[in-house]
Amino acid sequence: MVRSGVFICHCGKNIAGSVDVKALVKFAKEQADVVHAKDNAFLCSEQGQETVKRAIKKHQLERVVVAACGAELHGETFKGVLESSGLEPEYLAMAHIRKFTMATSEPRDKILQSCKNELARTVKRLRVKKIQNKVTVNLDQSALVLGGGVAGLEAALELANKGYKVYLAERKPVLGGAMALLYKVYPTDDCASCILAPKLAQVMNNKNIEVLTRTKIESFKGYIGNFEVKLTSSPFYISHAKCTGCGACVKVCPVNITDNEYQYGLGTRKAIYIPYPQAVPHKAVLDIDNCTRCNVCFKVCKQDAISFKAEPEERNIKVGGIIVATGFSEFNPESIKALGYKRYPDIITQRQLIRLLDIDGPTKGKLLQVSTGKVPKNIVMLQCVGSRDRATNISCSGGVCCMAALKHAQLVKHEYPKTNVYICMLDMRAYGKGFEEYYQQAMDAGVKFIRGRFAEIKRSSEEFTLTVEDITLNELVHIPADLVVLSTAMVPNHGSKGLAQLFGIKIGTDGFLREAHPKLRPVETNIRGIYIAGACRGPADIPTSILQAKAAASEVDTELRRKVAKLPEAMVNR
Ligand code: SF4
Ligand code: SF4
Repeated sequence: MVRSGVFICHCGKNIAGSVDVKALVKFAKEQADVVHAKDNAFLCSEQGQETVKRAIKKHQLERVVVAACGAELHGETFKGVLESSGLEPEYLAMAHIRKFTMATSEPRDKILQSCKNELARTVKRLRVKKIQNKVTVNLDQSALVLGGGVAGLEAALELANKGYKVYLAERKPVLGGAMALLYKVYPTDDCASCILAPKLAQVMNNKNIEVLTRTKIESFKGYIGNFEVKLTSSPFYISHAKCTGCGACVKVCPVNITDNEYQYGLGTRKAIYIPYPQAVPHKAVLDIDNCTRCNVCFKVCKQDAISFKAEPEERNIKVGGIIVATGFSEFNPESIKALGYKRYPDIITQRQLIRLLDIDGPTKGKLLQVSTGKVPKNIVMLQCVGSRDRATNISCSGGVCCMAALKHAQLVKHEYPKTNVYICMLDMRAYGKGFEEYYQQAMDAGVKFIRGRFAEIKRSSEEFTLTVEDITLNELVHIPADLVVLSTAMVPNHGSKGLAQLFGIKIGTDGFLREAHPKLRPVETNIRGIYIAGACRGPADIPTSILQAKAAASEVDTELRRKVAKLPEAMVNR
C-alpha cells in the first residue's frame, strides 16, 4: 500500500463555482490507497500550503495529488511543499481540474464527471510511479543564442558580460535583424542605427562572444548543461580577415538584382554587395546563385579577399543553455487579392515605406511614388492587414503596426506637409509608455484618422480610390490615394516550426514558439535549458524584446551558475 493524499482546491469560485467540490472529495476517498482527502479555498496560498504540509506529517503521506490548476502554473510550488516535508518532489502529481470548470456552459454533472476522471487517472498514475535515479552532471559554462536581431544581441551581451562563452548564430550575413532597417524608432523618433550601432560594436568586440553569421542549426541533442549542437555556415566566398569593406568590388560588378531583400524588394543590389551602409560585419557578401563568375571583382580587390573555392563549414559545439531569438516574418499581403499588392507598384507595406524615408534607402530618403518618381499627394495607410481578421489571422500584432503607422505618418507630415495622410483603422492601439502622446502628436501634425476597414480599392489612370466603411459616420467614404501603405501583421518566422521540431519545444495555436506559462514563465520553454525571447514568441516591439532577452539570459545564468545539476539518469543516458 502507498499512502496517498488528495487536496482539492476551490480556486475561489473558479472551480467551486462550477463543480460540487464535496462530491469530489468523497470520490477521492474512494480511490485505492487514498488515506486522506480534503478541499481548501486557496491551496496555493501560504495557509493552503501549510495545510498540505501538516497533512503529510499527520497522515504519513507518501504520495500527494493536488487537484487544482495545471502543473505549469503550480507544479513548482507544490514540489517545494513536498521537499520541505521530506518527500521526494516527484511524488507530487497535479490533476488539472480547473480546465473543465472554465467551460461554464457545460452542465454541472458533466463537469463533475470530467473532474472525477482526471482525478482517478492522476491518483492511479502516481500510485505506480517509480522514482528515476538521479545523477549529478556538470553544466557547461556556455550558451548558444540563435538570432542576431535586437533580442539576440541583448541576450548574448548579458551572458557574455556575466562571463559565459556565447555563440551568436545568425542565418543572414549581417547582424541587427529587422531593427537595422527601421530608420527611426517610436515614440522618440531616435535613429534606429544610432541606437543599434553601440550594441553591435559591443557584441563584435566582446571576447566572450563568437559571432557566426550565415549559420543555421543542423542538429541537436542533449540536456541542460550539455546540449550538443551541429551548426552549418554557408560559404562567404569573401575572407572576413582580408575584406576591408571598401566596396570597390560592388562598384564594378555588372549584375543587378532588382529584388533587394535589404530594401524589402525596392531598389537593386549587385551580385557582390554590402547589405547596407551600417551593416555589421561591414564586409562584402557574394550572392553565388546570381554571380556570373566574370571575375571583374577579383581584379579590383586589392586585398585578394574573394575566392570561389569556399565550402560550407560544419561545427559541433557543446553549450549549457540555448536562447532562441529568431524573430518574426511579415504577413504577405499578396494573399489578400483585393488589396492589389504586387499588382500595382504604388501599393506598398510600412516596411517598404520606411525604406523610402531612410537616407540609406533606395531613394536616399526621398518619398517618391514607385511608379512615377513623384512625391505623393495623398497617402492612405490601411491597418490590420493580416491581423484581427478571422480569414487570415485573429491576433493583433501587439500594437506594433499601429505605432509604426503613427511614426511613418508623422515623418511624412514633417518632411512633406502638403501631403495628406489618412490612417484607416479599427482602433489605434497605442498603449505603451509615451504612446498615447505620440498618437496625439500625429493628430496635431494633421494626420487624419478614419475608423473602419477598407471595402474596395479601385484604380483609375491617375490614382487609387479607396472605399472605406467609416464606422463613426456609419457610411462609406471614398478617399483618393496615389500611394497606399499596408500595415502588415507580424507572423511566425518561416523557420519556427522546423526549429520547434528540432528542439522539441512547443508551438502555440498562433504558430509562435510557446512559453512554459504565459504569465509566470514567459521566457522558459517546456525543455529545461532552452529559452525564448523577442518576436519568435509573439509580436513584440524593441523594449519588450530587450526585456525578454534580459530575462532569458538571467534564466540561463540562474541554471548554469550552479555548475552542477541533478538530473534523471534516463535523461542523461538517452
Ligand atoms: Fe573591398 Fe575586396 Fe572587400 Fe570587395 S571584397 S569590399 S573589393 S576588400
Ligand atoms: Fe491592427 Fe494595430 Fe494591432 Fe497592428 S497593432 S494588428 S494595426 S490593431
